[in-house]
Amino acid sequence: ELNGYFEGLKRDFPIFSHDPSLVYLDSAATTQKPSSVLAAIRDFYERNNSNVHRGVYPLAEAATELYESSRRRLSGFVGCRPCELVFTKGSTEGLNVLASSLSICGDYDTFIVPVFEHHSNFVPWQYHARKNGLRFIPLPISQNSLDMSLVKETLQRMNGRFVFSLAGLVNSTGYRPPFEEIGSLVHLAGGIMVLDGAQLIPHEKFSFSESNVDFLVFSGHKMLSETGIGCLVGREKLLGELNPFVFGGQMIDLVGKEETIFSEGVAKLEGGTQNISGAVSMLAAVEYLENAGMERISTHVSNLTSRAREKIRAIGGYIIHSPESSRAVITFTHSRVHSHDIAEFLGRKMNIALRSGHHCSQLQMKELGIISACRASFYLYNTFEDVDRLANSLEEAGRWFDEFR
Ligand code: PMP
Repeated sequence: ELNGYFEGLKRDFPIFSHDPSLVYLDSAATTQKPSSVLAAIRDFYERNNSNVHRGVYPLAEAATELYESSRRRLSGFVGCRPCELVFTKGSTEGLNVLASSLSICGDYDTFIVPVFEHHSNFVPWQYHARKNGLRFIPLPISQNSLDMSLVKETLQRMNGRFVFSLAGLVNSTGYRPPFEEIGSLVHLAGGIMVLDGAQLIPHEKFSFSESNVDFLVFSGHKMLSETGIGCLVGREKLLGELNPFVFGGQMIDLVGKEETIFSEGVAKLEGGTQNISGAVSMLAAVEYLENAGMERISTHVSNLTSRAREKIRAIGGYIIHSPESSRAVITFTHSRVHSHDIAEFLGRKMNIALRSGHHCSQLQMKELGIISACRASFYLYNTFEDVDRLANSLEEAGRWFDEFR
């Protein structure tokens, strides 16, 4: 029944009417866009295009109102206040702003990051810690999960001046760490918690104000919007203390020859002309996701993931690396065929789009004892039929490569 509902929604995504045989299983990399989002972008440029927060003429006010209404709607979506939400280029930029600012503010001496993180949530912390003489703790994992006793042990050794940065959903395996519990442990130990929501926010209802998270980042393009737009959410006081990252227009109050006074609040972190149509696209995307129903999306995507797990397990030759409870993502290898060969076979012969490689997580791959894997990732426009075509094609790929032996 739920599958039928989402089969209907698939018609909202023009890419599938242009290419009806396409099975798109790479939504963890970026999602397809519904007509309503594409129309909102076009409508913005046709009717409301102007820079924001600058002009006093009606068109500029309309553009500003759209941009700010996107901020309000997104704040509602993730349960924060509009004064806590900054527009960024995406998760990577948000994490870079945080790592660079928190490494020089003097309040922290340690950054802790599990080794399964996406490089965007690993390298900035490692780089800025090294550069500024902070301790960097690459937290060990067991295969693909967090060992909670190790987490507790590590936190017990802390002196309250640390940052713990963690993915809400790990992109390379679909593992969902118990970030709620870790957040409260981090707070008990006196540290602050950063949540990389790049994969979580598209898939699950989340409330920032009710969470134990101090900063949250996410990307628009992984939740039906344009590329080049995302959000950094932070507790008002902590956000206010961050250093500006990009200096220029809009983020200043008063410029003197010797010194400049910066704007207060979110404006300080939005230097230069922003991706206004991107913000508009996120507004339309959130409307689409809320109409489709976040709980329905979560359930449907979980059903797809379980079905894929069972079907791939039933085919000989494939090894599943995702944990049993993985969400939205299933990662696997073939015991004799390279993952690029499998992905290329599926792409060229079957029109199935699936990722292969290290998924920007080389340390996680090392932990699994592999250098590359195939990753199928699901979203609301996928159906049981897509999963079945994936499984049948994987079986065929195995047979096809076996013939070359
Ligand atoms: N974190 C995670 C968990 C991700 O999956 C990604 C994107 N694959 C990122 C961060 C980086 O996001 P972006 O490229 O949109 O900045």
